[in-house]
Amino acid sequence: MLLNNSKKVAVSVGCTACLLLLVVVVVLVAVQHRGAQLEEERTEPHHKRSFSTYFTKLSRGRRDAEKPVRVPAEPPPAEDISPGDIFIAVKTTKKFHQSRLDLLLETWISRNMQQTYIFTDGEDEELKRKIGSHAINTNCSAAHSRQALSCKMAVEYDKFIESGKKWFCHVDDDNYVNVRTLVKHLSQYQHTQDMYIGKPSLDRPIEATERLGDNKMKPVNFWFATGGAGFCVSRGLALKMSSWASGGHFMNTAEKIRLPDDCTIGYIIESVLGVPLTRSNLFHSHLENLQQVSRSEIHKQITLSYGMFENKSNIISLKGAFPVEEDPSRFKSVHCLLYPDTPWCPPQVAF
Ligand code: UDP
Ligand code: MN
Repeated sequence: MLLNNSKKVAVSVGCTACLLLLVVVVVLVAVQHRGAQLEEERTEPHHKRSFSTYFTKLSRGRRDAEKPVRVPAEPPPAEDISPGDIFIAVKTTKKFHQSRLDLLLETWISRNMQQTYIFTDGEDEELKRKIGSHAINTNCSAAHSRQALSCKMAVEYDKFIESGKKWFCHVDDDNYVNVRTLVKHLSQYQHTQDMYIGKPSLDRPIEATERLGDNKMKPVNFWFATGGAGFCVSRGLALKMSSWASGGHFMNTAEKIRLPDDCTIGYIIESVLGVPLTRSNLFHSHLENLQQVSRSEIHKQITLSYGMFENKSNIISLKGAFPVEEDPSRFKSVHCLLYPDTPWCPPQVAF
């Protein structure tokens, strides 16, 4: 019995030891496995992580490359117009027919005869031969007076209304017009919208006095686009201007505020009709420093000019087809840049 008991004890001690041993083995194996796992995580997964980061970057890069390049896009056209939809009025005077107008006729007008109309103050058979009925003798005085200039603008307005075209654009005879960019710019708008587009020459609205009759005066402030840089008015808006601009009305309106023609246009549009001027930096007069027009952007401008500014010759900076001595306004060089197939442009010029 005693022997039996001690056998039992021995067996149970043995079993317990076996169990303990088994537990120790299991724990050891588990610890070892985890160690190996940790080691793996410390090494291989590190490579895996950097590869996955690399591939993420790579595919993000590819996605970026596949995205269309963001060009500071012009809004899509609101209306498809062609050069024939624009009425371009050039204001000139007989004494500038040779010195200014001929240069325009040789350059930008030669490519845009159908939409350009010359408003002058004297008969010129040579001019008629060149542009036919588009040479319009306004019979206005040839003086540089406020009245004479308003008289020409009044005729420009009436001829535009008569033409039935969609846009009225006015320029001076010292402007180069890039008609391609003008068409592109105007097609952002509907010609039936109220649009007045140009560039002011002042940094604040002009202050004027409206003469109301009965010796009464009223101060008015408004922005106007300077005529020397050129400006455009949509047909929709031009029709609304009729009571103040058509027939003899324009001259009367100009007298009411005693300001030049371009200011009178601004007065009718901003002050009377309440339509704001839409500014565009693509119009340039010689009242601004033309050296600041970036060389690489010349082809994007709508109008350019030349003249004097602070007693110095004010021209765009362009190393073009002709030297300054041969082409002081730079208009011939601009023209060769825009229309290199022009017969008198030097062939294959590298600018
Ligand atoms: N002009 C005119 N009659 C004149 C003098 C000038 O019609 O007696 C026109 C000229 O042809 C030009 C505009 O008015 O289209 C502006 O003239 P200019 O460039 O000589 O002067 P600005 O006002 O630009 O200094
Ligand atoms: Mn001028």
